[in-house]
Amino acid sequence: MEKYINNKKLYEFLLSKGIENFFHANTLTTSCSFIQQNKLMSRGIVESLGLPQTSQESDIIDKKYGLWDCIFLDVYDLHKEGFGNYKRQNLYGPILFKLSTKCLIESVPNVRIIKENPVNWEKCNIDTSNAYLKLDEYIENFGDNTFKKMIIFKEENFNLFLDKYLEEVIIDSTSSIKEVNYGKRAYDIILKHMESNNLQCNIKMRECNYDCYCKKNYEEMSSKELQKLFLMKEK
Ligand SMILES: [Zn+2]
Repeated sequence: MEKYINNKKLYEFLLSKGIENFFHANTLTTSCSFIQQNKLMSRGIVESLGLPQTSQESDIIDKKYGLWDCIFLDVYDLHKEGFGNYKRQNLYGPILFKLSTKCLIESVPNVRIIKENPVNWEKCNIDTSNAYLKLDEYIENFGDNTFKKMIIFKEENFNLFLDKYLEEVIIDSTSSIKEVNYGKRAYDIILKHMESNNLQCNIKMRECNYDCYCKKNYEEMSSKELQKLFLMKEK
């Protein structure tokens, strides 16, 4: 059974915890498709529109569980807050969209909360029958592994327009890796795309402390991996 959430109640609960933003991380290529269309999009919709997007490891799983047309949102900036005991970059990509939770009071239909990222469902013996949390369960155990729980909804039900809900874009910094400053390059491309699509919001480079593994992880990546995350996909 899918468990739909009372949006207004969720909005008010998050607000009571000081949470006013949703977060969505992606690669540069997919992020630019969002900006071009002025909205966050599900993998399925980007594909059906024939727009550029990079593949994700979760794609096969998302299709398998009927989540291909869903938009996924976190209630924390996971890169900043950490994944349990450690901090690192978001594996979905270095571009982070920070959006207002106010979209919830504009009646996003059929919002659900998943207890765990679908890529871990099999490992955790989760399937569509026990993957969703009731709002009461979410509220009751809010501080408990919150980084794993995601808000999802089907895109056909609601457009998460950037000009209405986007508050900030945060881009991971990198050092120069083989003489390419990937973070800075991505910043310039995002800025240009935002301007040419008449979108205005704060765009900033992320500053991380020594306790985050992101810079080290990026330095250890191959050029191919870095290009997939930070540069535009060649057609
Ligand atoms: Zn970091």
